[in-house]
Amino acid sequence: MFDVKETPACLHDLVRAQARRTPGAAAVVYEGEKVSYAELDERAEALAATLRQAGAGPDVRIGIVTERSLQLVVDILAVLKAGAAYVPIDPAFPAARIAMILQDAGARILLAAGAVTGRHSPPAASAAGPEALAYVIYTSGSTGRPKGVCVEHRNIVNYVKGVSRELRLRAGMRHALVSTVAADLGNTVLFPALATGGCLHVMARNRTEDPELFADYVSRQGIDVLKITPSHLHAVQSAPRPARALPRERLVLGGEPLPLARAAELRALAPHCEIYNHYGPTETTVGALMYRVPETLPQTRSGTVPIGAPLPGARVHVIDANGMPCARGAQGELLIGGAGVARGYLGRDDLTREKFVADPVGGPGRVYRTGDLVRLLPDGNIEFCGRSDDQIKLGGHRVEPAEVEHVLREHGGVRQALVRARNEGDNAQLVAYVVPRRLEQPLWNHPSVHVLPDGTPVAHLNRNETEYIFEEIFVRRAYCRHGISIADGDCILDAGANVGLFTVFASRMAKDLTILAFEPNPPAFERLQANAKAWGGRVLCLPYGLSSDEKWADFTFFEGMSLLSGVYADPAKESRVVETYVLNGNGAHRMDAGWNAEVAQIVEERMRASTARVKLRTLSQVIAEHRLERIDLLKINVEKSELDVLRGVCAADWPKVRQLVIEVDRRSDVEPITLLLRAQGFEVCIEQDPLLQKTDLCYVYALRPGPRLRGTPAATDLVLSPGSLRKHVAEHLPRHMVPSAFVLMDKLPLTANGKVDRDALPAPELPAQRSDPLPPRTATETALAAIWSELLQVEHIGMQDDFFDLGGQSLLAIRMVARIREAFGVEVKVRNLFERPTLHGLCEVIDGMVWAQNNSRGASGGANDREQLAL
Ligand code: AMP
Repeated sequence: MFDVKETPACLHDLVRAQARRTPGAAAVVYEGEKVSYAELDERAEALAATLRQAGAGPDVRIGIVTERSLQLVVDILAVLKAGAAYVPIDPAFPAARIAMILQDAGARILLAAGAVTGRHSPPAASAAGPEALAYVIYTSGSTGRPKGVCVEHRNIVNYVKGVSRELRLRAGMRHALVSTVAADLGNTVLFPALATGGCLHVMARNRTEDPELFADYVSRQGIDVLKITPSHLHAVQSAPRPARALPRERLVLGGEPLPLARAAELRALAPHCEIYNHYGPTETTVGALMYRVPETLPQTRSGTVPIGAPLPGARVHVIDANGMPCARGAQGELLIGGAGVARGYLGRDDLTREKFVADPVGGPGRVYRTGDLVRLLPDGNIEFCGRSDDQIKLGGHRVEPAEVEHVLREHGGVRQALVRARNEGDNAQLVAYVVPRRLEQPLWNHPSVHVLPDGTPVAHLNRNETEYIFEEIFVRRAYCRHGISIADGDCILDAGANVGLFTVFASRMAKDLTILAFEPNPPAFERLQANAKAWGGRVLCLPYGLSSDEKWADFTFFEGMSLLSGVYADPAKESRVVETYVLNGNGAHRMDAGWNAEVAQIVEERMRASTARVKLRTLSQVIAEHRLERIDLLKINVEKSELDVLRGVCAADWPKVRQLVIEVDRRSDVEPITLLLRAQGFEVCIEQDPLLQKTDLCYVYALRPGPRLRGTPAATDLVLSPGSLRKHVAEHLPRHMVPSAFVLMDKLPLTANGKVDRDALPAPELPAQRSDPLPPRTATETALAAIWSELLQVEHIGMQDDFFDLGGQSLLAIRMVARIREAFGVEVKVRNLFERPTLHGLCEVIDGMVWAQNNSRGASGGANDREQLAL
């Protein structure tokens, strides 16, 4: 173990000292690769030299986005040897999350897939001391953003030495690293193994997600030491003979409560293995307390195994709400002091001051307020009783619901979001309650309110028209194609706003918009105003039309087709356009004469016309009046007056216009419009809508050439549904933070004093969106449906059902992998499920694997017994 005389100051020194003691011993094994201590040291030293040249040095943060592999261990040691601090990021995180962490950490050098990218100006001093930063680990943040915990060498060195001693680690022991190093639970084996002459077996991701592969590895490789969360262990123990998944000598469980019953089960499965319950927040460096599970389990109020007593160097207090020490047996908050107390949160001084405080009992140094409720047992051990705040553990991962809520609220269509956990242990799941960003209450009292397919109420004129516009704007995104984009803070002019659905759409795409909406048709204008008011944004509704000059004109308004109203309206011709549209849309199905007559009648009713005098002004007048310095998007839908609107822009104002999208009604106008726009320096693109073939209608898109504009979200993102919300969250947060159910609500239930009444939140109706699921058709689908039914506790699984919509999460997915292997004899991966989450999709994967397996077996002459039995 450690030689007191050469007590190393830094983490990498511990490994270096070991490399001197046992240079030829196996240090790291990963699948087919193996390195000795001397080789590991050499490889890390070579990479450290490169990193130093790139600017690595004390307190420089270097991102590591490397898959669990031998290279990962080399990368970590190299960063430490170079004197810098590593910021481990799980490569499975969404790109946006990775980018956000790298930015927050100020990491300008990155190690990914074995390559170094980026540079940093070299720091003055180059060797790290005990007070230098060793790593920054990001953990979920209650303010909506993850926070980086800064751990110094002296913190982690203290931990490695303490835990190695408590676990009585010996040279030659085989340790398995089975969890991500992006959280610190992996550090219980990673560094202690390498500091005590152990052999670190880095387990590949697919093995840790497959019960059979996991058990096979642990038993065949003779793993001695395993650190794992109780829920991960439970998931990988779903293969036959679960004892095979257990190590020979030390099983260290941690990260979440360990139920007594579970500990008893494990004891019985591995009577010769020492089992430990290990506890500690990242902020006090991996673990601060440990409890060796005795032969006879104690009884506790919480029903969970005690978390034990402080590790060497750690100090704990249990305090009450007044900051006074609690009497033995009384519940209070756990404070941790001592050598493991981290430096604080990177760049978050306020939060650091709030959580890392002076020792209330007068001890030396700061203590960390864990937020964990505990009590001191008569025997001196500590029992974990729960949290004092909303923080939860899901599958061993720390999750602040507020962070998930923050991401949900960034979805343009969400007004309010509340996330909470339901159930405990293995069945714990996150549920998101979402109130769509919709109109204020007064709108519900509007005489003609219509609810859009995504649940948003709007004031409108008539249903068919509103549905047509919804389809055009939200689903087909007719105004946002070919590079047209809407970004935060944009100024948008909507000429021919009708009832204002484009405003609703734009407000979902971006924040802080300024919108000027023009609508001369009085009934449509009245709805436009109601909608704009309800939306509460900066929408200015102007009751006039736009043209080439300021004047008055006679407008023809159609009662049931306000869309076609305008100064050039011709009732007979408009009727034909509407008729063609309806017939095109119903194309192949309804070609009979009766249907045509029906359509003609509907059209006639809708097209009853009336006229009114309308004020027309020029765009340049409006630009001057409202002092508009830029127009990010000019949208025009003005029934044949498009050219007139464009002619109302004077030369000096054209450069202010960045993008245009115009619905052009007359074929003959397309050319002059295109010419005009090109002359003003725009790139122009013309598209005819498929539903409007055989009519003159088309869309003209115009953009100023230059750097590519920010992309706009896909159409489905704007239609609020559980699916689009899940997609949005999954693009920003790690898998374990994606809620398994999304409940759309009109409003959140409130208590008498106006707070959200959490107890009144409904249980998610699983699966709420399934109306008559299509029953499984093939033998594979039927067999897999039975497995899903049992795992997800949902009856009547349909072909199109999505595993995650039904409440599935990663740990259940691991158990499903084992069940699929038993039933079909193939190795489906958790990744396959993420790619093909429906019953039907996953069955195609399974069938493909079975087919490939049979064919390769057929070619080599023998059939697979297990498969034949299973099928
Ligand atoms: P993390 O920083 O991700 O390690 O999470 C630390 C938190 O996990 C603690 O504050 C506890 O709430 C919880 N935790 C960790 N280990 C245990 C354990 N053995 N028993 C109960 N809760 C635990």
